[in-house]
Amino acid sequence: MISLPNTPRQALIGESFVNAASGETLTTLNPATGETLTAVAACGAADVDAAVAAARSVFEAGTWSRLAPAERKRVLLRYADLLEEHADEIIALDCLEAGKPISDTRDGDVPEAISTFRWCAELIDKLYDRVAPTAPDILGLIVREPIGVVAAVLPWNFPALMFAWKVAPALASGSSIVVKPAEQTSLSALLMGQLALEAGVPAGVLNVLPGYGESAGAALGRHPGIDVVSFTGSTEVGRLFLQYAAQSNLKRVVLECGGKSPQLVLADAPELDVMVDDILAAGFWNMGENCSSGSRLIVHRSRHEELVERLVSSLADWKVGDPLDDATRIGPMIDANHFAKVMGFIEAGTKEGAQLRTGGGRALEGSGGYFVAPTIFDGVDNNMTIAREEIFGPVLSTIVFDDEADGIRLANETNYGLAASVWTQNVDSAIRVSRAIRAGTVSVNCFSEGDVTTPFGGYKQSGFGGRDNGVEALDQYTELKTIWIQTR
Ligand code: NAD
Repeated sequence: MISLPNTPRQALIGESFVNAASGETLTTLNPATGETLTAVAACGAADVDAAVAAARSVFEAGTWSRLAPAERKRVLLRYADLLEEHADEIIALDCLEAGKPISDTRDGDVPEAISTFRWCAELIDKLYDRVAPTAPDILGLIVREPIGVVAAVLPWNFPALMFAWKVAPALASGSSIVVKPAEQTSLSALLMGQLALEAGVPAGVLNVLPGYGESAGAALGRHPGIDVVSFTGSTEVGRLFLQYAAQSNLKRVVLECGGKSPQLVLADAPELDVMVDDILAAGFWNMGENCSSGSRLIVHRSRHEELVERLVSSLADWKVGDPLDDATRIGPMIDANHFAKVMGFIEAGTKEGAQLRTGGGRALEGSGGYFVAPTIFDGVDNNMTIAREEIFGPVLSTIVFDDEADGIRLANETNYGLAASVWTQNVDSAIRVSRAIRAGTVSVNCFSEGDVTTPFGGYKQSGFGGRDNGVEALDQYTELKTIWIQTR
């Protein structure tokens, strides 16, 4: 039996865990039961001021920002080891607060979060700056410097992993950071903050402020002492960060937002056994609460019926249940509001004429949790609400096409462009179609977001201003400087 670990509930500002200046708290819930888990500090503008001051002060002192990269690497590797020692607690916190299946957090989120820290740590003492091809009497250096104070505003769907995606490259680059986790999922970030201090990251370099978006999130967005805000969440809130920046100090803004990713199955796609598990994972992994979820299955007419039949029968093996049960693959929606939103989309699908092939209702009603039965719609038109809007739930919409050009048109006919997959056995089609799709990651004959070695982010309204992961992630957190030296 996994119970809630006894980890920090207060904000981490500088070297101390403290209550919010207002004394306010917010309550986090277990979405699998609807029961209260615990109370956490609910930070506001005064706490943001204090955290930014701590972050700026240590940045200016240089105890982290001017450390040799090899030294920062040493500390970050120690931090990764400590995260590994405490992995069971981080796993439990994310399962309990986010309702994520334990097999996903244990085998995916948490090991990936740890390896993100290791990878960024290993990277930083192998990056070189550049010398410009100037006239011989000039030495033109093009150098990257840590940007200063970073704010990271996180979503609730991958709490520990998104923390790592933002914090690892920011710390590796030498910047200081203030993290605001989503209000539904604060606990893993607070524990990870505590472990950073234990690992020897200087106090003030990493601050963690739990709180609501409208208060702590907006105060970070508007703060004149923050140099860059890196956000993952809805496109709607992403837009606000651009406004906050425009209204304050023109801070850099990097956004990872929503998606409506296509899975394009061409006529010459591989046999069903090769495709089915990945197509289901694209649609239903993390309950579809995933910005790169492949929620539009765009399938050639010749493969359509056999594929949908097989998806429906295989989906029956995806156990909906207690996130702490190893056999569970589908946990609850994050909260009652989001549950209602997802159910509203399912109703809209039926009303607009899509054909329900499986699911479509509430599951495990007696549990008190917010479970939605995994749902497959067929006969979907790309103009229907369920094909246009990000549902962020376990709902897959099937759309049929007749020729490749039409399939590509449908795949691209969306305001989003985060991810896509293409299924074909023809290498020419694979290359042609993956180049034609306007998305940040196109996977061929699999569902994948890439890994820490590859940049992740979106075209169109899926993203703005930069990428997480890969060497490119560090660009978010560094400034480019030219040093022009005249020799005489
Ligand atoms: P959200 O965008 O509202 O929240 C993400 C983060 O932004 C949270 O930390 C939140 O506190 C903060 N925030 C919210 N309102 C804010 C404001 N006015 N100013 C500053 N910060 C603010 O996402 P959500 O409410 O958790 O989910 C809503 C929808 O967002 C989902 O249904 C889904 O479509 C999308 N979403 C996308 C991702 C992703 O990874 N792309 C993750 C979570 C949610």
